[in-house]
Amino acid sequence: MIVVMRPTATQEEVDAVRRTVEEHGLEAFISVGEERTVIGVVGSDLEIVAHLGTLAGVEQVIRISSPYKLASSEHQVERTRVRVNGVELGLGQELVVMAGPCAVESREQLMQTARAVKREGARVLRGGAFKPRTSPYAFQGLGLPALKLLHEAHDEYGLPVISEVVDPADVPAFEEHVDILQVGARNMANFVLLKAVGQSRRPVLLKRGLSATIEEWLLAAEYILSAGNPNVILCERGIRTFETATRNTLDLSAVPVLRSRTHLPIIVDPSHGTGHRALVAPMALAGAAVGADGLIIEVHPDPANARSDGDQSLGFEDFGALMDELRRLQFVRSADAEPTPAPVGTAVIGDVRDRIDELDARLAEMVQERASLALEVQRRRDAGAHGHDVRRERALLERAAAGSTGPMTPVELTMVFDALLRASRSVQRRHAQSVTEAEAAAAGSDR
Ligand code: PEP
Ligand code: MN
Repeated sequence: MIVVMRPTATQEEVDAVRRTVEEHGLEAFISVGEERTVIGVVGSDLEIVAHLGTLAGVEQVIRISSPYKLASSEHQVERTRVRVNGVELGLGQELVVMAGPCAVESREQLMQTARAVKREGARVLRGGAFKPRTSPYAFQGLGLPALKLLHEAHDEYGLPVISEVVDPADVPAFEEHVDILQVGARNMANFVLLKAVGQSRRPVLLKRGLSATIEEWLLAAEYILSAGNPNVILCERGIRTFETATRNTLDLSAVPVLRSRTHLPIIVDPSHGTGHRALVAPMALAGAAVGADGLIIEVHPDPANARSDGDQSLGFEDFGALMDELRRLQFVRSADAEPTPAPVGTAVIGDVRDRIDELDARLAEMVQERASLALEVQRRRDAGAHGHDVRRERALLERAAAGSTGPMTPVELTMVFDALLRASRSVQRRHAQSVTEAEAAAAGSDR
């Protein structure tokens, strides 16, 4: 740290700063310039920074190194990877999706959710047992029985489980039943709890406090690390701002900021970060795009009747659609890279798949033939006009919506035709563009 003295500072004031530094067991290097004196201090602690700033003759105190040591990437260059039951979080690893209900409500609700999120590709199951609710009258969670249900779900579905611990006295019970201990936003600065989870052998997911700066958050992580637990995962879950349209303001810039300051893995919680179901998928994708190592998402079998955070919980279908999108964008690998063999006694899946392959080949040809015809229409019109006819397109979509004889619903059938029409328009537009450019080039060479 550097202490910059005022130009008017006296020798006595400089000496007083040096004495204070030495009394704290630190070394002071005094450099007398033409205008002012600056004092370099080797070693630092937060208290002396604040104290030196109050001494007579001091203009400012500039900190050079971060106040957190163990969490800092200055201290540890290689990125931490947290491993839990075969799931690895951190640099070079696939995005880890944690999903499950805000609160465990019943065995049936938890098991149903575990089955659904596992099928869709989640790698960790979440579920609150002790809920730190804003109102004392709101559902507080089932407590210990919920931890036991999480344990059962782990054994049944093989997913590691995460749950929030609110009381240091509960740490042993959590260690017995869950794989990752969560410290919630409201407890980020509960230093007794941080020290207790710091002594645990389980990894800790540390959420950002409701109004915590990144530095305060990293200092909270430092409590856990300095108590001996190296496996800390940071979770951005939104902060309080003046904005009321969302429950919190999801600070996605925290992800790249943290990347440059810490080696710890970082995940994003778009559920608490937004508070609205419709915003969860877009912000989850944004979190993945900005480089998060994972996501934690609230999923419920019946969000409308959830006992907590229903408004921000995804139903199974929405969660599945989000996972599809994460796979499409290759943040998550396809679940069946290794095809699973058909169980003995069932019809051979391979035969059916062969027929699907044949059909796909025919469909690809037909789709190309359709695009060629669309192109022909465009060729017969002038390049400035659209080749497609909006009324015919609408009629086609209406026919698709009205008549559905197979397993596809009208909505699904409409999705297929909608995609087909978009692709055809794209072919036509490319052709029109090339004609326009050729005409412009010809006109240019005429001049
Ligand atoms: C939770 O994960 O259900 C929760 C209470 O989160 P937060 O601490 O981020 O509010
Ligand atoms: Mn919640």
